[in-house]
Amino acid sequence: MTGPGADAPKSENTDADAPKSENTGADAPKSENTDADAPKSENTGAPGNKTLSMIERLVAFDTTSHKSNLQLIEFVRDTLSELGVESVLVADETGAKANLFATAGPKDVPGILLSGHTDVVPVEGQDWHSDPFKVTRIEGRLHGRGTADMKSFIAVILALLPEFIERGLETPLHLAFSHDEEIGCVGVRRLLDRHISGMDVKPKACIVGEPTEMKVVTGHKGKRSLRCHARGHECHSALAPSGVNAVETAAELVAFLRRLSRRFQDNGPFDPAFEPSHTTVHTGTISGGTALNIVPRDCTFDYEIRNLPGDDAEAIQAELEAFAADTLLPDMRAVDPDTGFRFEECSGFPGLDTPADAAVTELAQALSGANATSKVSFGTEAGLFSRAGIPAVVCGPGSIRQAHRPDEFITTEQVALCEAFMRRLQDRVCRS
Ligand SMILES: [Zn+2]
Repeated sequence: MTGPGADAPKSENTDADAPKSENTGADAPKSENTDADAPKSENTGAPGNKTLSMIERLVAFDTTSHKSNLQLIEFVRDTLSELGVESVLVADETGAKANLFATAGPKDVPGILLSGHTDVVPVEGQDWHSDPFKVTRIEGRLHGRGTADMKSFIAVILALLPEFIERGLETPLHLAFSHDEEIGCVGVRRLLDRHISGMDVKPKACIVGEPTEMKVVTGHKGKRSLRCHARGHECHSALAPSGVNAVETAAELVAFLRRLSRRFQDNGPFDPAFEPSHTTVHTGTISGGTALNIVPRDCTFDYEIRNLPGDDAEAIQAELEAFAADTLLPDMRAVDPDTGFRFEECSGFPGLDTPADAAVTELAQALSGANATSKVSFGTEAGLFSRAGIPAVVCGPGSIRQAHRPDEFITTEQVALCEAFMRRLQDRVCRS
């Protein structure tokens, strides 16, 4: 999942003392259908040893988003290379991080893309009871940073890939492992631009293995986070009318955002599959001014729009800019033509809204044994794949309730369910 405090209040949950496995937090996937939305629980024995040791290997790489992920990527590249699968690495501008893309099986027919991010959120400031970068097994749980979000998914793929190859892939399996997902799906954009968009034969379906407890998620909200710089005109506060107060003009924009937020809350549109069921707008930080006796020249605030897939985040931003231009700017410019507002895009991702009858949805339902589909409030890379023309759903092991938290864990049952999912995928894409 993506976004600081990702989209659901899990990191700020006050239920830190509650038994984690019994949480009923609002950030779990919401089921649209009432019938059995839980994946069937056959094949939920213990995961294979190869999978367990691969989870240990991947968790041991400290791939916190602000650090390099290259060691993990090189390990994956070497692992694939031993299986005769070539990798393409797409590095970031610093060369310290890379995405990996690989195809197992034929390249001239469209395949199934399995996608996951390699970065994890920081452990600093969290109260861990074990080494976050060493898997610690306590009863049926594997504790460690990234066990749920989302190295176990990648580990299952790597551990079972030899079986796919042995059984003879007729439909290719594409693997996309990205960097910097947690800070706004940064890496995968470059992977899409530099590599996937130029493929002769594009993948026909994408499964993003973010933790959904192997439920099939077809929708999530989009997000845009922005920064506004308000530029005023400084002067002595005794002469306030001859200046332009940047803090006050910024406050007018913040208040406008608040009115927009209330409008969505009161008038919708609503989609009850989401919690909250409407688009939200929120200002998170603001800073400005230097001293009380100076009319402030500068003020900056950060805000975000989390839109239902059907709502247009750009149109919402356009409303704000129109208010600034029509209502505030004329008075400001009358004092000083250099005053004004500058808007800066910080991060974001598009919403996901894959139809229930899309082939990728039906495939993921068949593989997971889940009858229902769900929508979630956290964001993923699936929206970007979908926008790039590759139909996508989210389905992976582990619970979002454990993601980003101290003592993050995944149950071995979830890992085994993911293995069962991959073995059913083998039945679909392999010769024998
Ligand atoms: Zn994630």
